[in-house]
Parts: sequence; C-alpha cells; structure tokens
Amino acid sequence: MAKALGILGLQGDYALHARALHRLGIPHRLVKWPEDLKDTSGLILPGGESTTFLNLMEKTGLRDAILRFAQEKPLMGTCAGLIVLATRIQNQKMKTLGLIDLEAKRNAFGRQIHSFQAPVRILPFQDHPSFDGVFIRAPQILSLGGETQALGFYQEQVVMARNRNVLVMTFHPELTADTRIHRFFYQSFVQTV
Ligand code: GLN
Repeated sequence: MAKALGILGLQGDYALHARALHRLGIPHRLVKWPEDLKDTSGLILPGGESTTFLNLMEKTGLRDAILRFAQEKPLMGTCAGLIVLATRIQNQKMKTLGLIDLEAKRNAFGRQIHSFQAPVRILPFQDHPSFDGVFIRAPQILSLGGETQALGFYQEQVVMARNRNVLVMTFHPELTADTRIHRFFYQSFVQTV
C-alpha cells in the first residue's frame, strides 16, 4: 500500500489540509507522536500558532523526530508552518527548526489588516499562475538564503519558496477549493524527493 502523507495534527487547521488531500485522493494521516512518522511519505505543517507548535513539538519528542525525518523526506509548511520551518525570524526569539534558509517576520501585516485575500502568482503554474491567496495574521518572507528559491509572489513580495525538499508559503491554500498547491507538493516533492 502507498505510504500516507502526514499532516502535523497537534494544533491549527490540519483538518482542512486533510480535506484537500481527500479531494485529491491522496492517502493521509495525522501525526501527533514521533512514531506516527513511520511509514509516512512526507509531512504538512499547517497554519495555527507557531509558538504553540514549537512547544508541543518539544514536549512530544516530535521536534527531534521531524529533524531526522527531514533528512530524507519532504515537508510543506503554510503560514505558522513556514515560521516553524524557517531559519530566522526577524522580530521574535524562537527556536525554529531551520529547515529552509529564509528570514521571515511574524504577524508582518500589522493589526489593521490581520487578514486579507488577494491573488498571488505561482510560477510553476505557468499557464494559470493566479491563485487565490488567503492571508491570516500572515508572516512575511524578508529574504532568501542558500539554495532557497522563490516560487510565488504577492505583488513584488515572495510568498512561496522552496529548497530541495521543503516547500513553504505565507498564505493558506487549504482554505480554498483550489487543490493545485497540494497536488504540486505531492507530485514534485513527495513522489520525487
Ligand atoms: N500568526 C501566526 C503565528 O505567528 C500564524 C497565523 C497562521 O498560521 N494563520 O504563528
């Protein structure tokens, strides 16, 4: 049987990622403990509260388990998931996982516009690059380092990026009915990395 794609199920909107994978017919499972990563083909870190994720990951042993898992397997992080995976957070001291070389600013859009919806451009979707970007108390990507490449833009800002095995975005594709980003992660990372 094909291995299931894992979704970190500690907190946040993991159920909506499960819905997107269900729509695509991709087998998936929730990951709450280190042993859940066994027989898992990749891991999605959902939106939620990045400090809570980091605390719970430390308590459950998932922090070290995910760091080991990431040596071979692909990861995707949305919003808080991006913060957890980033190497540097400009405006906060956080012990992130450092699995993708970029600097982000937490809650970057300020109090007035915590949340907004705007079209973003996703470069790999060459023929139809426009994607409905849902930003909720979103971080901003300030700079990319090392082998990290920009894959998506909101105006001139990078909102989606990748390295060899990690894909991150500051918005929430799981909040739309458009499953192209989940399919892209599955096809270009899970099935090839
Ligand atoms: N503001 C949250 C954080 O800093 C992220 C919000 C989200 O995931 N929608 O962790």
